[in-house]
Amino acid sequence: MDIKKVFENNKDWIANQLEKDPKYFDELAAGQSPEILYIGCSDSRVTAEEVMGAGPGDIFVHRNIANMVANTDLNTMSVINYAVQHLKVKHVVVCGHTNCGGIKAAMQHTDMGILNPWLRNVRDVYRIHREELDAIEDETKRYDRLVELNVQEQCINVIKTAEVQKAAAERGITVHGWIFDLHTGKLIDLNIDFEKITEDIVNIYRIKH
Ligand SMILES: [Zn+2]
Repeated sequence: MDIKKVFENNKDWIANQLEKDPKYFDELAAGQSPEILYIGCSDSRVTAEEVMGAGPGDIFVHRNIANMVANTDLNTMSVINYAVQHLKVKHVVVCGHTNCGGIKAAMQHTDMGILNPWLRNVRDVYRIHREELDAIEDETKRYDRLVELNVQEQCINVIKTAEVQKAAAERGITVHGWIFDLHTGKLIDLNIDFEKITEDIVNIYRIKH
């Protein structure tokens, strides 16, 4: 996309919105109350709002390489805190995608500089599920499965936060793990059984509130 086109496109977009609703920007400026916090990958092909048919004000979005929820990452933790405690979102979604460059890089051994500690979080997911992943002979299938398992682990990282635990107990906030399939454009709900998964770890990570 030519960067010079951006402001032209923006003008067209404004005209379009105003044509549909002359008060559009007054309402947009008045405030936000999104119901969904979406944590996805920065990949340019996985545009959070567009694939969901959502518009401005609908989704609170955080994106980083390989849709990670690292508990020492002040950025992600601040987004979760704000979305859950202040915006009171009803759902937290972690969305991974097929052909994720971050996941692929983590399965290789190239020195990626500053990306090394970031990708180490994905390698930790691999280590936890090593037995299952190593048993998959087909490389693409192994990548795809790591994409899914990474989403699952990042959902667990969301559940580990005090804010989400509190919101789950008080108002039943729910966590969802999704995959965006680049080959078909489909959003796939992994239907992760969190109760089963967290059964074992609940006493370790439980935070009193
Ligand atoms: Zn990605």
